[in-house]
Amino acid sequence: MVIARRAEQVLSWGRCHRFDHVRLIPGTIDEAREAVRGEGPVLPFGLGRSYGDSCLNDNAVLIDTQRLDHFVSFDEAKGEIVCEAGVSLDAILALLATKPQTDGYWFLPVVPGTKFVTVGGAIANDVHGKNHEVEGTFGRHVNWFDLARSDGQLLRCSPEENAELFAATIGGLGLTGLVTRASIRLMKVPSLMLEVEDIRIRNLDHYFEVAEESRSGWTHHAAWVDVLAEGKAAGRGIYTRSRFTTCENSKEAKSGGPRVPVEAPSWAISHPTIKLFNAVYGRKLFGEMRRTECTPYGPVFFPLDGVSDWNKMYGRGGFYQYQCVVPKDLARESTAALLPTIAEDRQGSFLTVLKEFGDITSPGMLSFPMPGTTLAVDFPNRGERTLELLDRLDAITLDAGGRVYAAKDGRASAEMLVQGFPKLETFRRYVDPAFSSTFWRRSAGTR
Ligand SMILES: Cc1cc2nc3c(=O)[nH]c(=O)nc-3n(C[C@H](O)[C@H](O)[C@H](O)COP(=O)(O)OP(=O)(O)OC[C@H]3O[C@@H](n4cnc5c(N)ncnc54)[C@H](O)[C@@H]3O)c2cc1C
Repeated sequence: MVIARRAEQVLSWGRCHRFDHVRLIPGTIDEAREAVRGEGPVLPFGLGRSYGDSCLNDNAVLIDTQRLDHFVSFDEAKGEIVCEAGVSLDAILALLATKPQTDGYWFLPVVPGTKFVTVGGAIANDVHGKNHEVEGTFGRHVNWFDLARSDGQLLRCSPEENAELFAATIGGLGLTGLVTRASIRLMKVPSLMLEVEDIRIRNLDHYFEVAEESRSGWTHHAAWVDVLAEGKAAGRGIYTRSRFTTCENSKEAKSGGPRVPVEAPSWAISHPTIKLFNAVYGRKLFGEMRRTECTPYGPVFFPLDGVSDWNKMYGRGGFYQYQCVVPKDLARESTAALLPTIAEDRQGSFLTVLKEFGDITSPGMLSFPMPGTTLAVDFPNRGERTLELLDRLDAITLDAGGRVYAAKDGRASAEMLVQGFPKLETFRRYVDPAFSSTFWRRSAGTR
């Protein structure tokens, strides 16, 4: 058997973590099983859409699943897809779009903000979408997966079979073994179009009012926030809510999109340009308080996928994305503390998103979502100054009993991990001894 092998520097999506790796690219499940048993420490790698160091394994081995990209079966009666773990959500959605049913389409119940993630990556980070309150996380819709362990076993894991390993692997950051194949339950939607409503939000109180009111009737929600707005305007932005529907006067789906060809110079991401962007984007509604339209799901669910290589916009230094969740009972108070801390520091960001997580329990031991409010903000990497600000945001999050999202992290302390994830000790039992990552060595004090 020949497993492709390359020595190279690999960066994660935020582009501030770059390390030398040996990349193994198995082409079959047998080769994948062989790779897992090879030189440790190993770590599975999908499409590298994790922002920080959780998909990296400095000076060690990445098992890249790009060639494990075959569909195994599609049961149109039950709405079940079985595929290899390197299949992307993009490929699944493209397949489903070609298979109209008599009463609509099958669709993935949970999609993150980019479709360029693999099934293995979606399981290992137990990703969430804009409809967490209705569907929970991706892991809830996994019937089973096969897991290759370094002792040579290939274990079928489901809520009934190897149930503990199933729970450890969902949100398990690739540390419990390599997912080779998975079975995903789909949901039926009436069409591939969404009715979308944009509402101008005056401030944080208004955000929480609209979020509450939107719970009935709308399934997908997120608000873009002008993170530089201060005082009474803190939290102003645009709340977007949507639901699948069949609608007539639709916008044309755009194909392709602009590209960020090279790493932008650092002045491009300065306070004035960010302020200008926020002001212009904030006027998107042009005086309207509310606007409704019918749109294909792509631009609504995956707005950034339309701009290729947008992560290069932050220049050579890259950027950090800070994503935390604060529990429901303290959500308003803690978000009201997080926003001014960011605004006052003036390191700003183009992309700041507020979203609600619901009560549906995530199946994974280390899954990120908990009932409450999640905030995601991009920060250009300005070294110590940025890290110091992120530590202050951590302190607020920790104080509220919240946690940060490992998929986005590349710098939080071990304390954040220990306090934020109460099942961490149980999880450790299921970590495969040959598996590790830069994140895990940094934050969990392991080799
Ligand atoms: C623009 C953008 C928007 C995003 N929006 C969201 C969002 O709304 N919600 C959300 O939850 N996340 C979001 N993310 C994060 C992204 O969904 C996750 O990081 C996802 O896990 C990336 O998948 P990947 O295939 O690129 O995996 P990678 O980033 O390559 O790896 C992620 C983890 O999965 C593990 N892994 C990969 N393949 C396997 C396998 N076969 N077996 C076992 N473990 C494996 C890796 O070891 C690693 O720990 C977003 C990312 C971007 C860039």
